[in-house]
Amino acid sequence: MNTEAVCVLGATGSIGQNTLDVIRQHPDRWRVAALTANTNVVDMLALCKEFRPEYAVMSDAASASALVSECRTHSLPTEVLAGEQSLVDVAALDQVDTVMAAIVGGAGLASSLAAARTGKKVLLANKESLVMSGQLFMDTVARSGAQLLPIDSEHNAIFQCMPNNYLAGQQAKAVERILLTGSGGPFRQMPIEQLQNVTPAQACNHPNWNMGAKISVDSATMMNKGLELIEAVWLFNTRVEDVEIVVHPQSVIHSMVQYNDGSVLAQMGNPDMRTPIAHGLAWPERVFAGVQALNLVEVAKLSFERPDFERFPCLRLATDAALAGGSFSCVLNAANEIAVEAFLQHDIRFTDIARIVEECLGMANSVELSSIDAVLEVDKAARARARQCLAATQV
Ligand code: NAD
Ligand code: MG
Repeated sequence: MNTEAVCVLGATGSIGQNTLDVIRQHPDRWRVAALTANTNVVDMLALCKEFRPEYAVMSDAASASALVSECRTHSLPTEVLAGEQSLVDVAALDQVDTVMAAIVGGAGLASSLAAARTGKKVLLANKESLVMSGQLFMDTVARSGAQLLPIDSEHNAIFQCMPNNYLAGQQAKAVERILLTGSGGPFRQMPIEQLQNVTPAQACNHPNWNMGAKISVDSATMMNKGLELIEAVWLFNTRVEDVEIVVHPQSVIHSMVQYNDGSVLAQMGNPDMRTPIAHGLAWPERVFAGVQALNLVEVAKLSFERPDFERFPCLRLATDAALAGGSFSCVLNAANEIAVEAFLQHDIRFTDIARIVEECLGMANSVELSSIDAVLEVDKAARARARQCLAATQV
């Protein structure tokens, strides 16, 4: 059997590392053609030694040059590249069959789109790119014939519970609702008045998942669930009103699909991203992922709650942005990225994140996003406005 060539964008991150862990267990199925990272030369070198990719991309020239000399010292076959265009180039390489899009934030947009444009099997973890460019992204996938597979655990679960051919087939009409589950994050039960004093370390201490800093803060504000609502609307061609957010603190059910005959299908498993990653990589087959089997007797209890829109204003903002249309989602994402970064730097309070996003949305207009340049322009303007809001914020 020929091995499939994989490009892992964001290889040093949480999703990147989990992806490489699945690949490591199946050298007969997958080989690594390209890896990318921001500036972490030490981790990238270790990955280059282990996986010997043809290409490794670093964000800046200094990191790339440090990696070049290390690769030479260790006689590695890897060609080292630098910069944003190189992310696009490796995602679009002819010899690459599958791209894991696992860069965090808007920095992943161009490379995720490049994988879609060149008709790859696109494993999409980088939800922000879909939130920013939904229609453009889905049109690009449809035009190129790319196979888009969701890696976000909820969307992967929904994908597993959907009928075949759900975008076009008769069966799609049988789907009444998507039940998008979320744990509620670390602050689900904290007295609301204490939220303004929580620290980045507390926000990043998720009860069930071990993830990168940005998505951990998004989970704590529940903006993550808001971004996922928008992601679900695009991926499954559904209305905002037909996606219901359900808080499920145990994170054992990863989401559900409700059918018109009364059936509700759920996908369950331990909260371990190697399950959706292995599912995406091997689809339509299944492979061993190294994930511990779910022990329902040990879990004992599954509970469900309605989301609290007062505690989590980001949920309301994301829902409103989803209803208002594509460019509002793009503004929501951009403002959130700037605000989360400022919170992680201790420049603003946790509760300022929603306030800054709300201010930016209040100043936004509806814009047609039919090209990547149009998306990037809206994104840039929203980031600039968010920075102005930050400057006016006193901690
Ligand atoms: P992370 O912070 O752990 O890793 C991010 C990766 O992107 C790293 O390899 C980093 O080097 C790279 N990167 C960061 N900024 C970059 C830039 N400007 N240019 C190029 N590369 C850059 O993040 P993560 O938790 O792995 O999340 C990655 C994506 O997957 C996010 O979009 C997140 O929402 C999504 N996701 C993550 C999880 C999870 O469990 N971690 C679950 C669902 C979805
Ligand atoms: Mg998720």
